[in-house]
Amino acid sequence: MRAHTMTALAAGLLMATGAWAQPREAFAIGGQRVAAGERLDLDLQIPAGTSDPATRIPVTVFHGASDGPVLALTAGVHGYEFPPILAAQALLDRIDPARLRGTVILVRIANVEAFEQRVPYVNPFDRQNLNRSFPGRSDGTPTERIAWALTGAPALRRPANASVSFELSHAAR
Ligand SMILES: [Zn+2]
Repeated sequence: MRAHTMTALAAGLLMATGAWAQPREAFAIGGQRVAAGERLDLDLQIPAGTSDPATRIPVTVFHGASDGPVLALTAGVHGYEFPPILAAQALLDRIDPARLRGTVILVRIANVEAFEQRVPYVNPFDRQNLNRSFPGRSDGTPTERIAWALTGAPALRRPANASVSFELSHAAR
């Protein structure tokens, strides 16, 4: 009898200290899940259009071990702006999800085609400026579909909605 009381008391204490708290929910993005305290590199897939090939948006998610806000950082909206793209690369080794509170979504290059073809401010397929194309359209031009994938598509919607979002850009001219 006394042993049962002690067990119940111990259980109560464990619950009070959070030792039995639910583990943090995984973060869903692009059809994949990132466990708490983990990092995942993935590509958001952009399907081919009528006149342009399929493309992808390389993203890294750091899902912190404990709850907190979601920060989205986007580099390479203008594919030739390589300083913020390099800054995003440098961040990769500096965020430790095991010690992070909250979640960081790092879009490493938003406009891969422009980056690979070194086109300064527009997408080479439709000559549109991604920076002026948000929130985009799922059935639009290549640039509109990239914008949609970044802001409107289910991949970046709840529970992945960002509390804060920054575009990493450059200040030349
Ligand atoms: Zn720019």
